[in-house]
Amino acid sequence: MRSLLICSAGLLLTANLSAQTPTQKIYPINFSKVAIEDHFWSPHLEKVATATLDACVSYTEDKTGRIRNFEKAALGSGKHEGIYYDDSDVYKAIEAIAYSLKNYPDKELEANTDGWIDKIAAAQQPDGYLNTYYTLTGLQDRWKDMERHEDYCAGHLIEAGIAYYNTTGKDKLLKVATKFADHIDKYFRVGNKPWVSGHQEIELALMKLYHHTKENRYLALADWFVEQRGKGYGVGKIWDEWKAPEYAQDDVPVRDQRKITGHAVRAMYLYTGIADIASETKDVGYLRTMDAIWDDVLNKHYYITGGIGASGSNEGFGKPFELPNETAYCETCASVGMVFWNQRMNMLSAQSKYIDVLERTLYNAAIDGMSLTGNRFFYGNPLASNGNYERSEWFGTACCPSNIARLVSSLGSYIYSRSATDLYVNLFIGSETTLDLNKNEVFVKQTGNYPWNGEVSIEVSPKKSREFTVFVRIPGWLKQPVPSSLYAYESNKANEYTITVNGKPTVGIEEDGYLKLNRKWRKGDKIDLKMDMEVRRIVSSDELKDNHNKVALQYGPIVYAVEDIDNPNAKNGLFLPDGTEFQVNYRADLLGGTNVIQFKAPVVSIDHSGGKVVQEEREITAIPYFLWNNRGKSAMQVWIPEKLTSVRVN
Ligand SMILES: [Zn+2]
Repeated sequence: MRSLLICSAGLLLTANLSAQTPTQKIYPINFSKVAIEDHFWSPHLEKVATATLDACVSYTEDKTGRIRNFEKAALGSGKHEGIYYDDSDVYKAIEAIAYSLKNYPDKELEANTDGWIDKIAAAQQPDGYLNTYYTLTGLQDRWKDMERHEDYCAGHLIEAGIAYYNTTGKDKLLKVATKFADHIDKYFRVGNKPWVSGHQEIELALMKLYHHTKENRYLALADWFVEQRGKGYGVGKIWDEWKAPEYAQDDVPVRDQRKITGHAVRAMYLYTGIADIASETKDVGYLRTMDAIWDDVLNKHYYITGGIGASGSNEGFGKPFELPNETAYCETCASVGMVFWNQRMNMLSAQSKYIDVLERTLYNAAIDGMSLTGNRFFYGNPLASNGNYERSEWFGTACCPSNIARLVSSLGSYIYSRSATDLYVNLFIGSETTLDLNKNEVFVKQTGNYPWNGEVSIEVSPKKSREFTVFVRIPGWLKQPVPSSLYAYESNKANEYTITVNGKPTVGIEEDGYLKLNRKWRKGDKIDLKMDMEVRRIVSSDELKDNHNKVALQYGPIVYAVEDIDNPNAKNGLFLPDGTEFQVNYRADLLGGTNVIQFKAPVVSIDHSGGKVVQEEREITAIPYFLWNNRGKSAMQVWIPEKLTSVRVN
């Protein structure tokens, strides 16, 4: 069975990016043009707008010294509080606030953010440099240790400046960011001074600045940063102390990179930036690298939850197939980066396999990073717990809370994309948007109850009746869990789907994972997609030692977990024999409303008085993985033994 699954997965893989004409094929429709009204996502967006941003604000300006650092830097004196990269958290919070203000206007929050921006602007040096750590500890040491995140902070400043301008029309922060970008361009690229970014981020930020300003020098600078890598230019802790250039993807020039290495967030931001650059420069070398790295991640380093970065020691990738469950690192930020990168790969290729990966990460590993209350966070997102792990209110290194906040508050950007003439429906999220296709206004509205069931309606209503194509993504999970040889459904059967237009069954052509619906669209036309959802047992390839003789449960795109709070002592005694019958029930009263999987299964335990192993048949409830640890600490497992012999009874 295991060898069979490898070839069936192989057959489903589509052509790689570098085999295609290297031009950007499709463009996302920005969240600012997409109104979300969705049973699943709206509560999360609301929590971000209230609880998550509240947490970010109070930890940024009261409970830690992040804003005080800017006040002191403006005065040029005082003790720097916190860690040298803390400025980035302020910028990332502003970016999240900017996205959220678009959907949830809040005068008070905006006025407070304006106050932060005044302080940031006042802390900028006359030459454009801006970093409170070096301003307060000695500007003579700036731009020396390439690990010290100065350019990383600049990147987040640029992203925040653009986001805040786009929402509010206020350009003060954007001007500060542009001045810093110009300083960096002059000092490094024009000044011909080598610099390897120790934490990539500035590349993708400069690409946003390039798109915003249309100034070629920002594209040139982004590309310059990428070209610096792998040439032995690194100076500072990563290189001199750790002797680990691979930690920052700097051991090999980018065009020669074929294996994923090092810190997962750094890697994701780098490849996102490279994808953005390649979409402009048509650099086939970059595309080849991304194809190889993507295949390496998916086939050797990818968790079933869509999480990446197995190892805590380097916050990143371990050896191939090293995917432990209980110690899985899977940083929330790495999942956010995985969403960014896969969206770019989809834009370059118009292939839906990248959205399959994006969706898996988004609905499982990424959203797991935030509690249902919106104000507690996971930094790492393991796939099993002995019951001692829980979300925190904040972290010393606080990258994750504002990162998940900016992703969720800009969720609208991932639902639809377009070419010049056609519409793509990528995610099934209740929402509406109006776009201009060939000078024709097209209103699009999606309704449904995904991911709890597979029925989705899409209204496509052009102002003038015209022929064009609507590409509807046919989710990869209907056929296989992931476009990867690591995982397969235990039974080979593909789930079916049907699609109708205005109630009439339609046979469209499936191309690169999308169903192509080409017709003359008229006002009020309606597509109904019905995807067959059932509980699927997932098995792993033999290389994943931690998953031997274990199965994971999935329903639609959602991976399930068994938490001991519902099933006492299940962590060490439950097993799931072949033929277990599953029932899926929607529980409005549980965890904000969720599907649960219920089944009868054996749980074994040791009767300590008699020293005997006791086996009992119990009613078991599995909940979506992302919802675990919302009711206090509890043991949890995603991968469940299939046989009594693989149960470890305590
Ligand atoms: Zn993080």
